[in-house]
Amino acid sequence: KHVSYYNSNIPDATYGGRHTVSLIPADGIGQSLIMGIVEVFQNSGVPVDFEECYITGDTNEEKMKSFNDIKTSVLRNGTALKGNWATSMGIDSKSYNVLLRHDLDLYANVVKFKSYPTVITRHSNVDLIVVRENTEGEYTNLEHENIPGVIEMIKIITKKKSERIAKYAFNYAMENNRKKVTAVHKANIMKLSDGLFLKVCKEVAESYPEIDFNDIIIDNCAMQMVSKPEQFDVIVTPNLYGNVLSNIAAALVGGPGLPHGENHGNGIHVFESGTRNSGMDIATKNIANPMSMLFAATALLRHLQLSKHAQLIESCIHKIVTTNQARTVDIGGNTSTSEFFEILVKEVEAYRYKRKVQ
Ligand code: ATP
Repeated sequence: KHVSYYNSNIPDATYGGRHTVSLIPADGIGQSLIMGIVEVFQNSGVPVDFEECYITGDTNEEKMKSFNDIKTSVLRNGTALKGNWATSMGIDSKSYNVLLRHDLDLYANVVKFKSYPTVITRHSNVDLIVVRENTEGEYTNLEHENIPGVIEMIKIITKKKSERIAKYAFNYAMENNRKKVTAVHKANIMKLSDGLFLKVCKEVAESYPEIDFNDIIIDNCAMQMVSKPEQFDVIVTPNLYGNVLSNIAAALVGGPGLPHGENHGNGIHVFESGTRNSGMDIATKNIANPMSMLFAATALLRHLQLSKHAQLIESCIHKIVTTNQARTVDIGGNTSTSEFFEILVKEVEAYRYKRKVQ
């Protein structure tokens, strides 16, 4: 029997069946989207209390204390709903996003990309999942200048973490009735590092005879994904390739405003948008598509076993989008972000009144 790495450790509800969730608006569009979601939750009767954790992404020594408080909050609550911190290019500036994932060992990033009804895209049959190793690979922050003009950067691939993410992907496939896992790598060039990742994936695959397994080199995968995305089911891949593939796949299903992302560790689960954008360029324009953050929020509710509430919110989103009552500009409409939330809240209220959802 396989040991499940998926959906482990649902936090206990507090007195009265309420859950406390860390709320991290971060930068850019995250702030208005998260405020909208708080309102949707209130109007949906969701038994969740938020612990708001607010800092912006420009890192400095002083802020590290607040950042450590955020980590404590997420550790204590076990769940978080998160926007994205903007990270500057400055060499002294660290990414709080990367630090949070690394320090809390949120090792599995899982993003599902599925064509959304009535959102017109080149392919209408995309249904794939990217399971991305979230804590090592190229994101180790180990770079140095040996001599002027010569930079060395260290990518770390370990057997232990490769095995952990491979098992996660296969368990995910088993539990979600998926048929195939594809390992994506560049082992023909990075023979030791990606070679190890691929070898471990192959070994893990042997324990899952029910699931088909194949592998593909990242460059070919990128090409295949835009030409024949229907061939992919569950993809498992190291950190940086996962980042790039997630952005390609998001474009296939209608852009960064649609897919949500999940980050899972042992007993800690952080929900955010699938492509983790802070959207600084549109932060003040009131045009961001709130669907990816809303789906992150409903995934959080399902994780807390509040699927009735998740279903309520999702069916209301589905109704207002597919009937064109609310549709932001990125998916062919002209509804603003704030109008979208207003329409959604009205829909939720109407639905609750009809169905008496408590
Ligand atoms: P960062 O890492 O700081 O988020 P980035 O370059 O990875 O930067 P963004 O610039 O935030 O990503 O986003 C990429 C593009 O996607 C931008 O043009 C942004 O406006 C757009 N975008 C991101 N999220 C949304 C959304 N929810 N709705 C509409 N457009 C979005």
